Amino acid sequence: MDYTAQLDAAIDRLHEEGRYRTFIDIERRKGQFPHAVRTRPDGSEQDITVWCGNDYLGMGQHPVVLNAMHEALDATGAGSGGTRNISGTTVYHKQLEAELADLHAKEAALLFTSAYVANDATLSTLPKLFPGLIIYSDALNHASMIEGVRRNGGDKRVFRHNDIAHLRELLAADDPSRPKLIAFESIYSMDGDFGPIKEICDLADEFGALTYLDEVHAVGMYGPRGGGVAERDNLADRIDIINGTLAKAFGVMGGYIAASDKMCDAIRSYAPGFIFTTSLAPTVAAGAAASVKFLKTAQDLREKHQEQAKILKLRLKGMGLPIIDHGTHIVPVIVGNPVHTKKLSDMLLDDHGIYVQPINYPTVPRGTERLRFTPSPVHGSGEIDSLVQAMDRLWSHCALNRAELAG
Ligand code: PLP
Repeated sequence: MDYTAQLDAAIDRLHEEGRYRTFIDIERRKGQFPHAVRTRPDGSEQDITVWCGNDYLGMGQHPVVLNAMHEALDATGAGSGGTRNISGTTVYHKQLEAELADLHAKEAALLFTSAYVANDATLSTLPKLFPGLIIYSDALNHASMIEGVRRNGGDKRVFRHNDIAHLRELLAADDPSRPKLIAFESIYSMDGDFGPIKEICDLADEFGALTYLDEVHAVGMYGPRGGGVAERDNLADRIDIINGTLAKAFGVMGGYIAASDKMCDAIRSYAPGFIFTTSLAPTVAAGAAASVKFLKTAQDLREKHQEQAKILKLRLKGMGLPIIDHGTHIVPVIVGNPVHTKKLSDMLLDDHGIYVQPINYPTVPRGTERLRFTPSPVHGSGEIDSLVQAMDRLWSHCALNRAELAG
């Protein structure tokens, strides 16, 4: 067996499909976000502005977070030294879980090493707890939910994205006596659109289903205390399991679910993805806890975040660029062709020091390839000006279409 040839063939397939990924080598500069230094392939350095990060509020450089991490490092050392069950549960993990349970007004929270793992581990474990479970999953759910649902061996139904009528049809077609769960997101990160939380909760009530909501792109940023869209809309108590990340708005890393005591206890006891892996480093748990706590009262930061997103959308729209605007903080500009998207992204980086990663199929459907900008409170008016001017120039340079401008 020629294993090397098979690896070559696998990589070649990606090249042929235009899906081979290359990483941009960057080092963020603490205290200077969104600025970073890129190391070019030839080893030279370039100052750049990051426009596609998910550190949505700049908490990755916030003194409150950094101080908590320094203190934990000095107090307890680097790693946790074990799984949660075997010597890896510390006061930092307990504090963070208490902050998160409080954030979502739930009885308990359970930490995982990422929100990907939290989704995968939880969704793949639920059929063990509820034999015969049917999971209804939004067609645009994140890969981590798809993977968890796929691996669990139970029945699944995929409903068309945000299509309540289709979800109802699927629910109604199934045996009323079987346990059910509806899995969806509050903000879908590629289009930046909201999930219909209330309508889905109404259907869940009607059909006796549990609800599972991924708030990864909303926690820290929406709701009066950063509890997400469900908190903003007073719907958190209607969600059985909330999933969130500590890696985006909270600026650190890790993931979690928040739910009832019993639900967390059962997942804790049955999910291999929770049980058989080393717990988060105490430094990470300490930084995340400080971030969650800080953001509970940082409404000014949330407002500034939304304001920056509004300004950027308004300015890009003003130039006739085809942006998708669902009223969230995510700003996708549709280019509609993978070659142009890559070219725009390369030129923004090489000629303007603006870093935005191209988003292609299969992350988004073919023909909707895009640049996805993530403005934040640390992007000032100077950075926005530079981006808008560069996009204007490059859009003309590549002879891409613009919308008819009113007036
Ligand atoms: N859920 C959604 C909707 C996401 O977009 C992501 C990551 O981008 C995740 C889960 C995974 O989050 P994490 O980076 O914490 O693994």
